[in-house]
Amino acid sequence: MSIDGHTGLYVILGNPIGHSMSPAMHNAAFRALGLNNVYVACRVEGEELGAAVAGLKALGFQGGNVTVPLKEKIIQYLDGVSEEVQLMGAANTLYWKGDRLWGANTDGAGFIKSLEKFEPDFRLLEGALLLGAGGAARGVAVALALNGLKKIMVVNRDMTKGQALVDLLKSLGCTALLLDWKSPQLIQALTENLLVINTTSLGMAPRFEEMPPLAYDRLTTDHRVVDLIYKPAETRFLQEAKKRGCRTMNGIGMLLEQGLLAFRLFTRCEPPEEVMAAELERWLT
Ligand code: NDP
Repeated sequence: MSIDGHTGLYVILGNPIGHSMSPAMHNAAFRALGLNNVYVACRVEGEELGAAVAGLKALGFQGGNVTVPLKEKIIQYLDGVSEEVQLMGAANTLYWKGDRLWGANTDGAGFIKSLEKFEPDFRLLEGALLLGAGGAARGVAVALALNGLKKIMVVNRDMTKGQALVDLLKSLGCTALLLDWKSPQLIQALTENLLVINTTSLGMAPRFEEMPPLAYDRLTTDHRVVDLIYKPAETRFLQEAKKRGCRTMNGIGMLLEQGLLAFRLFTRCEPPEEVMAAELERWLT
């Protein structure tokens, strides 16, 4: 498809941005549907974000995404945001609601969709042990709370960030507790909570050797173990869980699902799921 005077413009803003798989995934979808659109990646410095958003509006961009480290900062420049964005404090999707540029967060809902495919009965599990309290953790934790999980234990190094997440979860009606990586209670939490989710960046390429410091021997065949990391496809964390017979899931499903939800919002078209999934696989192998 060639670019012409009618081509619709979509963008992902972030810094760095060269590694993003969103352009490949969404452009493959545009091609498959025969849409005259193009999706580009733009590296934006934090202090230029207001100007960048004004530029997108002035140039008639039709929507797109926002990634690290701009997901929180972008909120102040938008004309409105969804309830999830208000709770999570982060937006990853931009789309137009009438003449207003709106921010949504599809990370949390994307995570839940991937989790439902992996473990349809996740709500029946005793509780979740959430490793990390960064941006991704907030999205995942809020989505779990909004989707009926009643107990979430959070482990984080930065206790201020961890406590802020725990307070947020409590405000949503969850039983939540913050633990330190060295806390003796962590062993018990690992034994009791059958859904264990790594949202830290430990083990992410290129630092393949890293993994969260846990008593992995406490894992059993009843545990469901999830890593948000998708590169590598199997982190050391997931390998250790597999050795103990746990069922495991990596972050590719979440990446795809957040993209499908975003595509629906900013194009109002049904995304070609198989094409987008194949494009992600191609990029990751
Ligand atoms: P943030 O930088 O916001 O958070 C990083 C988290 O990792 C924090 O909890 C941080 O703890 C923890 N962490 C980092 N280094 C260490 C360490 N050495 N020891 C202990 N804890 C550590 O990043 P994001 O939340 O945006 O992303 C986190 C991961 O999730 C990344 O690997 C990213 O690729 C993945 N991700 C996957 C998505 C998907 O679609 N599958 C979507 C979004 C993210 P502390 O606060 O104490 O520093």
